[in-house]
Amino acid sequence: MRSHYCGSITSSNIDEEVTLYGWVDRRRDHGGVIFLDLRDREGIVQVVFDPDTEEHFERADRVRTEYVLEVKGRVRARSEATINPNMATGEVEVLGKQLEILNRSETPPFQMDEHTEVGEDIRLKYRYIDLRRPEMMEKLKLRSRITASIRNYLDDNGFLDIETPILTRATPEGARDYLVPSRTHEGKFFALPQSPQLFKQLLMVSGMDRYYQIAKCFRDEDLRADRQPEFTQIDIETSFMDDQQIMAITEGMIRDLFKEVLEVDLGEFPRMPYAEAMSRFGSDKPDLRIPLELVDVNDLMQQVDFKVFNGPANDPDGRVAALKVTGGAQISRKQIDDYTKFVGIYGAKGLAWIKINDLAAGIEGLQSPILKFMPDNIVTEMMQRLEVADGDIVFFGADKAKVVNEALGALRVKVGEDLNMFTAEWAPLWVVDFPMFEKGNDGEWTSLHHPFTAPACSPEELAENPGESLSIAYDMVLNGTELGGGSVRIHQPEMQKAVFKVLGINDEEAQIKFGFLLDALKYGAPPHGGLAFGLDRLVMLMSDAKSIRDVIAFPKTQTAHCVMTDAPGEAESKQLKELNIRLREKAKA
Ligand code: ASP
Repeated sequence: MRSHYCGSITSSNIDEEVTLYGWVDRRRDHGGVIFLDLRDREGIVQVVFDPDTEEHFERADRVRTEYVLEVKGRVRARSEATINPNMATGEVEVLGKQLEILNRSETPPFQMDEHTEVGEDIRLKYRYIDLRRPEMMEKLKLRSRITASIRNYLDDNGFLDIETPILTRATPEGARDYLVPSRTHEGKFFALPQSPQLFKQLLMVSGMDRYYQIAKCFRDEDLRADRQPEFTQIDIETSFMDDQQIMAITEGMIRDLFKEVLEVDLGEFPRMPYAEAMSRFGSDKPDLRIPLELVDVNDLMQQVDFKVFNGPANDPDGRVAALKVTGGAQISRKQIDDYTKFVGIYGAKGLAWIKINDLAAGIEGLQSPILKFMPDNIVTEMMQRLEVADGDIVFFGADKAKVVNEALGALRVKVGEDLNMFTAEWAPLWVVDFPMFEKGNDGEWTSLHHPFTAPACSPEELAENPGESLSIAYDMVLNGTELGGGSVRIHQPEMQKAVFKVLGINDEEAQIKFGFLLDALKYGAPPHGGLAFGLDRLVMLMSDAKSIRDVIAFPKTQTAHCVMTDAPGEAESKQLKELNIRLREKAKA
């Protein structure tokens, strides 16, 4: 057994005999004395072998990088001159007395300190080596502390940890399902859960009262940089609590977590209605660390004789908004061109701007390609509304509201980052009062959250005016990232039917897909609600990781491929036959 982890040895252990296990990080030969940096989970310590210990010295001479060793020796202080202030154990070293080589290692495919040069594919292929890097080790240790803190909090608050099935039916969270063919039910398929949503609701119907699970979820989406096909949620559901109480208890969980793990006090989270978030920040997950806001100028632009502006200003689905950047007049033409390309990603057809050089000089003191299209009085009124000052720049978005919100919302964050305008390290908030539905591209209503979310109105009002109906849903946002979201659920069959009806799910389809839920609602379903946090994203934020893959032990690439195991793999024809599956010619090739 080890007596200490390598990385945990300090001056307080001087003169102690220790037994260590670890990997050789580095080996140096200094005039007949051998130095081994021995590394384990907790860090690195220097071990010195001198020729007195003949047999062991010889072995020390033979070891190479990543050999696995058992070392026994005595801790001693380093001489003043050899103290290494960059190393946690830099004040001490271990005088090695015995060394056993437990295993050899071939030359690793990359050196630990060269990981940045080798490319992520190689790191993922040899993930077990990549994870030996202290930086990666720290991230996974932090992840473990985070889940421990969360489990403790939920346990203290009476939540039961209950597992739900992985082989199940589709849960509508808006993504594509991963399907698993059934051998015993010919031609039928399981779906992997996009979330445990329906099961956690059923657990409330069964009276479990408070449930949580650190649950794997699966969504077959085209992957963006911060997505994984399988990811982990902290999934929570409670009975007999209203939205305010659910928000309070889960906010407490995140606040305690930050205090415990990062020693950060997040304070009380402000709340903001969805409509306000969209209007002021163009986003339902605003990054409140950045002090820039969108301002509506629709009314002013209705009057200008410039189609680019008056078109959207007079379109009920349009929006014309301005984004004032204090001190932004220094932004160069080249940079403005880059920002124009940037908003193009979100569908914006251009990026109009006005620089305020000398406000006292009136219109003359402004610089912009669009001034010639606008009457002076409109420009003056707009400058007053935006409360501009010398040295500011104002950007404009004019298009369908969706495009303007996405484009200016993203630009606000980008400019804030570029000009380093952050006013706080952490900015949490709750976004509330979401609409129940949004119009899909096909013009049909779809749920903004999921179809089990309770509306804040009666079934009749909902049927009459689905577009105006709000839901009792809430999202927790931190630094512009959605940490989690949830809602109070529908617990009465009439309301559930009304929602399905708006969504165009008829009785028969509802019965086939969710009959079990509709049945359960008939047998004494309590009022209930909950939410789910994305654990990977939470860890990523708390560890300041650049990529979500850095906080997952064995992640997949952006094409949903595991480079190490080479999954997904082919199935043998015998297996396919058992499953009654025949591949099309194209897939076979
Ligand atoms: N099931 C939801 C989701 O995965 C969360 C919730 O409503 O509790 O987003």
